[in-house]
Amino acid sequence: MRFSRLLIPTTKETPNDATLASHIYLIRGGFIQSVGGSGLYNFLPLGKKILDKVRAVVKEELDKAGCQEVSLSFVTPAALWEESGRLEKYGKELLRFKDRKNNDFILGPTHEEMMVNLVRQTIKSYKQLPLNVYQINLKFRDEIRPRFGLMRGREFLMKDAYSFHASTEDMQREFLEMEETYKKIFTRLGLEFRVVDADSGAIGGSGSKEFMVLADSGEDTIVVCESCEYGANIEAAIAQAKVYNTDTEVKTVVMKALYDEGKSVYAGFVLPVDIELQDVKACNAIGANELVECDGTELLDRVVIEESLGEAVDPNNYAANDVTYADISSVCEGDSCASCGGNLRYTKGIEAGHIFQLGTQYSVPLAANFLDENGKAQPMVMGTYGIGVSRLLAGIIEQNHDDKGCIWTKESAPFDLQIIISNIKDEAQVSLGEKLYEIMLAQGVDVLLDERKDRFGAKMKDYELIGVPHAVVIGKKLADGVVEFISRDGMVKEEVSAEAIETLLSERF
Ligand SMILES: [Zn+2]
Repeated sequence: MRFSRLLIPTTKETPNDATLASHIYLIRGGFIQSVGGSGLYNFLPLGKKILDKVRAVVKEELDKAGCQEVSLSFVTPAALWEESGRLEKYGKELLRFKDRKNNDFILGPTHEEMMVNLVRQTIKSYKQLPLNVYQINLKFRDEIRPRFGLMRGREFLMKDAYSFHASTEDMQREFLEMEETYKKIFTRLGLEFRVVDADSGAIGGSGSKEFMVLADSGEDTIVVCESCEYGANIEAAIAQAKVYNTDTEVKTVVMKALYDEGKSVYAGFVLPVDIELQDVKACNAIGANELVECDGTELLDRVVIEESLGEAVDPNNYAANDVTYADISSVCEGDSCASCGGNLRYTKGIEAGHIFQLGTQYSVPLAANFLDENGKAQPMVMGTYGIGVSRLLAGIIEQNHDDKGCIWTKESAPFDLQIIISNIKDEAQVSLGEKLYEIMLAQGVDVLLDERKDRFGAKMKDYELIGVPHAVVIGKKLADGVVEFISRDGMVKEEVSAEAIETLLSERF
């Protein structure tokens, strides 16, 4: 590609609402363009190219694992969401609208119902199972406060896969295979990541893991072990149980717990005095939707005692009708790993993938049944597996950038190589640049030739901003028979004789 022909509106202006490096550089580098500042983005040629490359890696690895790609209707009949019971539960993030016949529709933020509907019409027998189908399609979530560019936009490209099985054991086998497949995808994209245990949240089901791209700017705090593979979202993290005796000072944290249909109860959570309550664990312990603070003087309906306190507290001390034990503690840095005893520490991550063991949560209400070997109807057992494809673009840059711009990884880079002609009035420079460009193209290297009339300084600034992994700079030193080979990561420069550059490039690419 010739730079002079490329639609790549780079700019020095940082968008007003941008705080993250990925947001700033994707806009400044001309990869994406904001549409009215409302969490909607156009992908310009370079952004689209990278999106397609990331998409291709995801697709290749899924296809190798036996998954089959489909493409579902983007507009979803609301009736399907009524059947699953989610239409009411899902709040304003679900975009709802009517067609000209006054029928209700939604734009799906996730497609469990649509995929179950597809499968229940086509699968009748255990002989047709298992099945893993996926799509890589646009999703829409009407975020109240879209921010961080592609990280939390309203419209996003998502890979969502759904597997269907005759038994829980077979679903768990697929879950492990998907975990391995995801590791291959994230590794190929050149990402430093961690697979962590997660809370299953609103989608439900048990057994869920998140794929976290490690980055200081990540919104999620994750707990990792320094000695083994263990990692967990802080909401789901566990540590080696501590031993408490009857002298242990305890506290009771009182919260108002909210349930469906406006119901609420007052719940007390009993913990050692120096341990913080983990809200999500506490919510799960009493099956509540949410906990809100209250003044703490109310009579308690329920009490949950941190399970590691064991006999260190007397449950009869609490006047509530319902006293139970559960893990409700926050894991702290320096706690011991439950798997190996190693030191646990916090780190930050960006959730870019999530895999769930869903069970029959959707197949029962939507009547997605199959006939087993005895001819008996059974609900299909499901797993679901997501990757935020457009979010990955942001994740790659959050992890790989410097104060000048993007540093794309090999499989995500918009080009393999950039050739920069410093001064296009210099015939020798132009002649070498064009020659190398033709040779590289002939060898199948995806190369960008910067042959613009601009100043050399501006071309280098664009190179640093766009972040192609390697460049050849043909400049003044060509008069002495020397060109420069640059690696974008660290801006490492190597002087190479003009005669040797062709061989060097042929070796490297
Ligand atoms: Zn460990």
